[in-house]
This record gives sequence, structure tokens and C-alpha cells, in this order.
Amino acid sequence: MTVELTFREYQDGLEQGKLLGLYCGECGAVTVPPQAVCSECGSRKLKIGEVEKKGIIKTFTVIRIAAEGMTPPFIIAMVETYSGAWVMGNIIDMDADSADMDLMGKEVIIDSRQVKGDVYSYGDIHSIVFKLV
Ligand SMILES: [Zn+2]
Repeated sequence: MTVELTFREYQDGLEQGKLLGLYCGECGAVTVPPQAVCSECGSRKLKIGEVEKKGIIKTFTVIRIAAEGMTPPFIIAMVETYSGAWVMGNIIDMDADSADMDLMGKEVIIDSRQVKGDVYSYGDIHSIVFKLV
């Protein structure tokens, strides 16, 4: 089975300032991060394309007890991009203790930052971050 977009290619895209996704030739959904099949319909008719780096916060949580190597508190959010794909990442440039339900529906710019690998990952990666507009 061929994979249209590898995790390495996705990571290289983030490093170059691009958010790459897979556009489905069957249902039109956009899958991010890369998977072997469409996240909506399971089709393998996928094409690589750039995803809009803006979206709306759909839900979030504040992490106060974190995994080894991470420093709480921090905010994890799910954002619906204007391309339709939902992506998960950290809301940055904001005090996590001031987070409240007013964040719901706020517009964000999607970016990435390099984070150190930990005992659970294979090395340094680019991780998605959100900045309030
Ligand atoms: Zn599909």
C-alpha cells in the first residue's frame, strides 16, 4: 500500500511554514495529520494539498498535570481550519490560567514550533501551535 503523504513529509512541510493535508477525491474531506485513508470516508483517493493556516477554536482543555518532560499548565485545543480539517495543538502566547470558555469560537492563526523529543517520541518534531488573532 502506498502512502500519499508520509509523517516526515508532513513534518518537512511544517518546518517550511506549510500545513499539508490530504484532500479526498471521493468525499472532499481534508485529513490532517496524514493517514493512509480519508478520515471521513476511508477512501484512498487522496491528494496532497496545503491547508488554510487559520481556523476557529472548537474545544480546548487546560493541562495541569503533564507527561514527563512537559511543563504545565498549558492549553490544548482542537481547531477547525477554514479548509475543513480539524487539527490539535497548543494555544501559545497566552497565560493558561486565564483560559475560560470565551476561547470557544475564537479565530486563530496556525503555526508550528520545534519541540524536543521525549521518552515517548522518536526525536525532535514540529508541533502545531495556535495564536489568537
Ligand atoms: Zn473521503
